[in-house]
Order: sequence, then structure tokens, then C-alpha cells
Amino acid sequence: DSLANQIAAGEVVQRPASAIKELLENSIDAGATDIKVIIKEAGKTLMQVMDNGKGMSETDARMSLERHATSKISKTEDLFSIRTMGFRGEALASMAAVSQLEIKTRQPDAELGTLLYVEASEVKKQEPVACEQGTSICIKNLFYNVPARRNFLKSNGVEMKHITDEFQRVALANPEVAFSLYQNDLETYNLPAGKLSQRIVNLFGKNYKEQLASCHEEAGEISIHGYIGKPEFAKKTRGEQFFFVNKRFVRSNYLNHAVMNAFEGLLAEGSFPFYVLFIEIDPIHVDVNVHPTKTEIKFDDERTVYAIVRAAAKQALATHNI
Ligand code: ADP
Ligand code: MG
Repeated sequence: DSLANQIAAGEVVQRPASAIKELLENSIDAGATDIKVIIKEAGKTLMQVMDNGKGMSETDARMSLERHATSKISKTEDLFSIRTMGFRGEALASMAAVSQLEIKTRQPDAELGTLLYVEASEVKKQEPVACEQGTSICIKNLFYNVPARRNFLKSNGVEMKHITDEFQRVALANPEVAFSLYQNDLETYNLPAGKLSQRIVNLFGKNYKEQLASCHEEAGEISIHGYIGKPEFAKKTRGEQFFFVNKRFVRSNYLNHAVMNAFEGLLAEGSFPFYVLFIEIDPIHVDVNVHPTKTEIKFDDERTVYAIVRAAAKQALATHNI
């Protein structure tokens, strides 16, 4: 029922940025190579994500709005070997419960696509439509029917910063995918598909190019790759430290500490190195299900992961004669 939907929605969709994260991850899961994001008023009035992925059939599209209707897990064991981003089948249903949501989607070999229009979980329109291959999801007036939540949203500046953070994380994790971001009709990012180093430069600035030390390490079932910034390039805040585990952005003081430890003696007091590091590990050794927004994880063997991350960072610094 709609109240249950609204309550559950609050867990997944806390603010516009959480909707953007879920939409972007769905586009990645759908195999998109080109993703366009349109934001108006920091997502409060409009958020649209358009992709050229595999699209949905009419039935799939209708199903996608049902809670726990994920196409990504078919048996319980799959929960332990999650490779795709989404795995709860809650995001679209949650967003549809607290907004006016439009889906346009077409599979590659279908002549026509499907248009669905939903208000507060109620399907108002379902009809064939001529559209591009892929999926466009448009969320209007988030929380229009939950005034308490709507009032709780922060200023446009703050909400937009959260959106940009999510956009940057997904863009970093998927350099082989092209992204663009439009903010109140202004293009603020245009990221062609390419290598990770190019993606970093396109996201953060040309001056990053000369500051990156590449990082590679393999040990048993764990591999690490990415870039760390040179010590003199360190910032006064931690804002530019990115860890991804199996392409999923994670927050981990533990992992941050491992990198900081590798820099010992090289950093000025109160400064933080830039890094974008990817850890690949058999999903069997990771629990990603500890938090609904999925940014916190637990490793079976934290000490080993710590040691490998530290070694990788040290090696990168040594290789670049730092
Ligand atoms: P989950 O991603 O956890 O499966 P979601 O609620 O995010 O749950 O999405 C529900 C389903 O809708 C997905 O499993 C997928 O089948 C379909 N879907 C959502 N977004 C897209 C998209 N951009 N392209 C293709 N299919 C999509
Ligand atoms: Mg999803």
C-alpha cells in the first residue's frame, strides 16, 4: 500500500542525490555506454537520467515499479556474489512512491517503446511510444506528497553538491562510459569515454595530469589499481579520496588510513592526498549489505586488505621516486 511504500522509500531515497545514484547505477547495470543527466533546481523539481542501455519490455517496465522486483537476483545464493550495483529491487518503487515519475524505454529490437507515468505509486499512463533505444527516467517534484521530507531538504547549493558527488563517483568508476550533466540547462560536465587518468582530468582539472602516480598491486585474490596524487598535491580536506570495491564506491576510515600510512613523513600536517583506488576482490569475501545506501562494506579479512592497500600505495610512491 502507499503508506508502506512511502515509509520504505525514505530508506532508499533520502534526498535528490540518492535518486541520482540509483538511476545511474541502473543505467550502468543496463550496459549503457552513454548516460546523460539533467537536473533542475538541485533535483527538487526535476531529475532525468537517459541511457542507451538494453531497455525494458512493457512488462519489465511495469514490473520495475513493484517493490522487490529486481531482475538481478534469482536465487538467495546470488546475494553473496553480487556483481551488479542494484540488488534489492527497491529503488524505482521507492522513487515512484514519492514523486511524479516517467519512464520511457525501448529495447534494441523493438519498434516501439513504452511510456509509463506514475504519481505516488499510482500508474496514470501506460502506452506505446516512439523513443530512442535505452531508458529515460524522469523524476519530478520529489517528495511532493511527503511535505515533511520536502521541507527537510537543504539549500539548492547543498543538494547539488550531493548530486555532483554521486555523479563523480559513478563517472570515476566507469571511465569507459560517456557521461554528461546538465544543471538548469547549462552543461557542467561532458565526459567522453576513455581511460581512468583522462576521466580524472576531465572531472577535476588539467592540473591533475602531472600529479598522478599510478598504482598496481596484486596479491592472491585481491587486486588494486588506480592513481594516487603526489604528496605536494595534497589538499586541506578529504573530499578527493575515492575507494571503490568491485566498482562500488565505499567509505572506509580503515582503507583511508592504510593509504595515509603509506605517505608517512611525506605529507604536511593536516593535508590529505588525492586518490582514486579500485579494489577487486571475490565478492564472497565482502559483505556489501550492511547499510541500505550500500556505501559501507565489511571485508572478511580486514588486516590483509589493509596491508595490501598500504603496500600498493607505497609501491606507487617508490615507482615515481617520491
Ligand atoms: P535493482 O536495481 O535493485 O534491481 P531497481 O528498483 O533499481 O532495482 O530497478 C528495478 C528493475 O528495473 C531492475 O532490476 C531492472 O530490471 C529495471 N531497470 C531499472 N532501470 C533500468 C534501466 N535504466 N535500464 C534497463 N532496465 C532498468
Ligand atoms: Mg537499482
